[in-house]
Amino acid sequence: MNAAEFRRRGKEMVDFVADYLENLEQRPVYPDVKPGYLQSLIPTEAPLEPENYEEIMKDVERVIMPGITHWHSPYFYAYFPAASSYPAMLADLLCGAIGCIGFSWAASPACTELETVMLDWLAKMLQLPASFIAGTHGQGGGVIQGSASEATLMSLLAARCKAVRRILSIKPEMSEPEILNKLVAYTSEQSHSSVERAGLIGGVMMKKVPTDSTYAVTGDMLKKIVEKDKEAGLIPFYFCATLGTTASCAFDHISELGLICNEENMWMHVDAAYAGSAFICPEFRPLLNGVEFADSFNLNPHKWLLINFDCSAMCPDSFHEGNCLAAQIDFLLGDHGCACGYVPGTRGGKQQQQQKKLFTWLLCFGEFTADTGCKLARVKKRHDMIGAFKVEPLYLRHENQESGLVTDYRHWQIPLGRRFRSLKMWFVFRMYGLQGLQAHIRKQVALAKEFESLVQADKRFEICADVIMGLVCFRLKGSNELNQNLLKKITKSREIHLVPCHLSGRFVLRFAICSRTTESRHIRKAWRHITQLTFELLKNPIQ
Ligand code: PLP
Repeated sequence: MNAAEFRRRGKEMVDFVADYLENLEQRPVYPDVKPGYLQSLIPTEAPLEPENYEEIMKDVERVIMPGITHWHSPYFYAYFPAASSYPAMLADLLCGAIGCIGFSWAASPACTELETVMLDWLAKMLQLPASFIAGTHGQGGGVIQGSASEATLMSLLAARCKAVRRILSIKPEMSEPEILNKLVAYTSEQSHSSVERAGLIGGVMMKKVPTDSTYAVTGDMLKKIVEKDKEAGLIPFYFCATLGTTASCAFDHISELGLICNEENMWMHVDAAYAGSAFICPEFRPLLNGVEFADSFNLNPHKWLLINFDCSAMCPDSFHEGNCLAAQIDFLLGDHGCACGYVPGTRGGKQQQQQKKLFTWLLCFGEFTADTGCKLARVKKRHDMIGAFKVEPLYLRHENQESGLVTDYRHWQIPLGRRFRSLKMWFVFRMYGLQGLQAHIRKQVALAKEFESLVQADKRFEICADVIMGLVCFRLKGSNELNQNLLKKITKSREIHLVPCHLSGRFVLRFAICSRTTESRHIRKAWRHITQLTFELLKNPIQ
């Protein structure tokens, strides 16, 4: 394909995409295919000779579309939203064209610098404390990760290293494996499965804290379990709070929880993957009060801020003493020879070098480093910190890296390569403006409230959790089996798509407002559909 053909095909593709999205509500939202359907539709090997573009596009409809769950259909109400907007898609096209791999400032200065500024724009929209902002001096600030799960894992690993450092400094007679065996992390029984997974990957005990009647964790609940564990000789070190739980969009009481975490030397990570975007609206911002106690905070603009996947914003608090991920690694690899990484107990030599590599990705969220003792000290320039740990082959070096004025984001993440994802933020923030983004959030919350009213007006149904944002949890009054059968009928119909959750042992249907194009008429039609299926089900409950 040459440039002339690309121009032609590109215009056709833009038309194809616009047609697809404009007419999406006519397609069944949920596919009707069996596992393995696609293999029988395409050859088992790549073609030897070049193929014709038209044939490929025909196959998009024949092979791909039948197997698509249409996440952007106005009848998609499952999970949480996957954000999408035209400015973000255009920015993604430009990102593909520039095609830079922005691992260091020199690898594409605009890629690095725009990310820093966009995360500051976002932090200011959210009214985060100043310690979450990079500002003009290149200190602190956030980073775009691929997912909330990655952000949680990173925070847990950093917290683990910090805890080992602290315990070793007060009880030098303890060995690292002994400490690791006693470390205990906590999260809500309602938190996302990625938190439990972070515990498994991080190799630490993870305990679930019970929730109150609103499915939120309160300070008292955490305090009780922490006290009991301390009496049993365990070492509490980490708590992952959730603002907007996946099942019912509940909000942990982070002001109370943060105080306890600070008192107990526990790292508090705040997972606001979905609901975090709503905090750009002043009326929702109070739910974020207490973030000042957090050691790290994460939200997914790719869920609710009109920025297509992937774009997960991680903001570590750079001013909390000892919070910087890099500081934990500095300790890990510093003069102590302490290794609290994936292979506990290995010290020095090649193994330590390998661990150093493993942990390089955890680097540099703020402006702290460890001194040569165990005490952490804040440093004035980020190169003091980065310089301590970098894996620096000649081919990645550049003349500005020690200037203290630039960020090399490769030190902030697992992979070396990174896309120019901040372009999507820049286009979306500018084309919607803060007011446009707030309007999007408010509209979706209003649609959820409308759906809630429809459910409340039908005495056969009940609402199962407070509707605070764009999610309604509801069920038919009756058995779990009845509700399972209703969901089966809904899924089979393929007209709307929902997923369930369990709340207090009950099978509950989740109705999440997801698509940017969902309007009141879609909500009302979805409800008519649900009540029609309910009518059929109640006539013949054994399905
Ligand atoms: N945390 C919460 C509260 C979520 O609801 C989700 C996904 O819905 C996640 C984490 C995982 O997000 P990601 O896919 O970005 O890892």
